[in-house]
Parts: sequence; C-alpha cells; structure tokens
Amino acid sequence: MAARGRIRGQARAGDLLELVRSGRATTRGALQQATGLSRATVGQRLDRLFRAGWLREGAGGPVDSPLGGRPSITLEFDDEHAVVLAADLDTRHARAALLTLTGEILAERAGILVVEDGPDVVLGALGGWFAELLAKTDRPARSVCGIGLAVPGPVDSETGRVVQPPIMPGWDGYDIRGRLSGAFAEHTGGPAGVPVLVDNDANLMAYGEQRTGYPDCSAFVLVKVSTGIGAGVVVDGSVFRGIDGGAGDIGHIRVGAEALCRCGSYGCLAAVASGWAVARRLAGAGVEAASGSDVRELLAAGHPEAVGLAREAGRQVGDVLATVVTLLNPGVLMIAGDLAGTPFLTGVRELLYQRALSRSTARLEIVTSRLGERAGLVGAGALVVEHLYAPERVEERLRALGV
Ligand SMILES: [Zn+2]
Repeated sequence: MAARGRIRGQARAGDLLELVRSGRATTRGALQQATGLSRATVGQRLDRLFRAGWLREGAGGPVDSPLGGRPSITLEFDDEHAVVLAADLDTRHARAALLTLTGEILAERAGILVVEDGPDVVLGALGGWFAELLAKTDRPARSVCGIGLAVPGPVDSETGRVVQPPIMPGWDGYDIRGRLSGAFAEHTGGPAGVPVLVDNDANLMAYGEQRTGYPDCSAFVLVKVSTGIGAGVVVDGSVFRGIDGGAGDIGHIRVGAEALCRCGSYGCLAAVASGWAVARRLAGAGVEAASGSDVRELLAAGHPEAVGLAREAGRQVGDVLATVVTLLNPGVLMIAGDLAGTPFLTGVRELLYQRALSRSTARLEIVTSRLGERAGLVGAGALVVEHLYAPERVEERLRALGV
C-alpha cells in the first residue's frame, strides 16, 4: 500500500515520514519504489524532514537497496526531537507521565485528584504535575509537542469536551483543551497553545494495549471495570468512537435490575456490576469500601464477600459482553481496571461462553491488561503522536518550523 492511498507520484513529506515510521519503507530506494517519486524529489522531501529534526540515519549501517546499486543508509524516525505529556484521570486519583515519541515512559507520577472538584481545579493541578515531570528529567518545556488526556467519560473528539458524563459533575461541555494547555504554559513557562487531545479512558487504554501488545489484532476490545464500566474498541489500528464518541459506553446498558445508577437511571449495568456498585453492596454489609480501588484492595486481600461479589459482577458484565462479542467478533477481549482479577474473569467467562455464539468465541482470547495502570498513559501519548505526525498534518507543521 503506497502512502495511504495518495496517487502514485504525489506523496508528500508526511507520506514519506509515515512510510518510515511504519517500517514499510526505510531507505531512499524503498521510498522511491513505494511512492513512484524520483530520487531527487524523495531527496528534497527527506531534506525537510531532516532539517526539522524528525528523521535520522539508522544506527544499523547501509542495507542493500531494492533498486540495486549502492547499499542505502536506513532512515528512522528521530524520537529524541520532542516529548509528549500524558495524564489519565480516574474518579479519585490520577496519573501523569512524560513519554518519548515512541511511547517509552521517561518519568511518571500518581496521586489523589478528585474529578468531582471540577475541571478548573483538576486541570490546574495537572499543570503543576507536568512541571515536576519536566524538572525531574531536565527536559525544557518547549520540547513538549503535545498533551494527551484520558478521562472517565464520553468525549466528543472534535472539540475535546466531555458530553453528559455520569461520573464527572461540572465537566459537561467544559473547554478542557484550553484550560490544560493554559495550565501547562502557566506552570512550566512553556509555549501557549500546545495541542491537547482528549479521549475516553477505556478508548485510550484499548489503543495503548492494542498497539504495544496486539499490533496484528484487527478487532480488539478492552473493558475497563473500575468505579465505572466502559469499553474501548480498536478496529484496524484505529479507535472506533462512533459518530458522537459514544461507542463502547456499555456501563449504562439496561440489564433489567432495580438498582439506581449514578447516571440517574435505574437498572444500568454499572449500577449492579461496577466497582462503585460492589463497594456499595460491601458497605451495606458493614465492610468499609467506597470506590473501585477500595474493592481492588479487598480482592487483593482475598476478602470472601468481595470475591463473591466480583464474580457475580463478572457474570453480569459477561452477559452484556456476549452481545458485544457477537457484534464485533474480536480476536482479543481484554478485561482491565480495579475489578480485573480471577473472580471477575471467571464470572465473565461463565456467562460469555454460555450466551455467545461459539463461532464468535472459538478464536477469542480473553486476557487481562499487560500495561496495567500505565495503559491509559501509553494510549494518550500514542494518540498525540499519531495526530501530530499524520501525513495530512505534517506539511503545516513543517511550514510552521520554517523548513
Ligand atoms: Zn447508568
């Protein structure tokens, strides 16, 4: 496939960068062959990418050219020229990291940040965290090319705003991008207007896990069961968001129970099978628990009532996932979040295999997270890089750099 459908001979600098980054063409000769451009034109376009500091010559030395003749120097994406900041908000705690452009975490911090305190307070605090991460690694704020943020609610990816989030009071329609890039500039002394990308946490966890652990899986589903319940779907390497960013919001599917959900409706899946619901039932039985992370601690300690409720929650989620799996026929179903342990997975498997068509589950792998609590950060970092270095955006950015 030549450069994402560009007509042969029309490839731009961004298309060449994409071919190098994906590993599909990593020498001048291979780029000529993939794009149909002349050697001189390939040279001119690469020159701009070199001047921007985005490409470098590979350390591996020359390799044989596909066009014959002299061996060619391999080219690679220079992941040293910039860094990315990422943050992942849960309802009561958050994580932030500074990452390389290829997704390696350079510095990380976690702590209590309460989403209910509202976006102004929470995003302002993240600005301070970002400054600490940069100081820890001695990176200048101007080296940050973008910021990725994972939030526990549905996001309109056009505007980066959350839309009627059930567990994020005060955030509906708020200008997250503006506030977070402002907080970054204020706390780090960095430039104003750094691009901010916002997405749902389950989407970004799914994206991070699929890219790093299952790059060949063309239909990947991740279900996050923490205080709330959400799912992220990655199809052919891209997050599937639906037309309003609502895809995967399975926590508020009605399952026919009587329980009142935090969204205000009755009978949602999250009202009976989320970490919040399990915590509430434990609290009703006199066990101290208020959130998904409290339930996680009880599960880790083998608390018998918590184990029983987690398995029951797994069965309820498994019932809904039977439909999800039948609709999408994924290769991998990953269970992540505070409840993702053996009791919950056992419950999921029981109901899923009982209710789904055996054809849709024959080759299905049901797994737990590989990246753990870092999945959202890795996904948020990758989202920023894929956005900023996408062929259609590269031209504008190169022009802004004056190359
Ligand atoms: Zn609900």
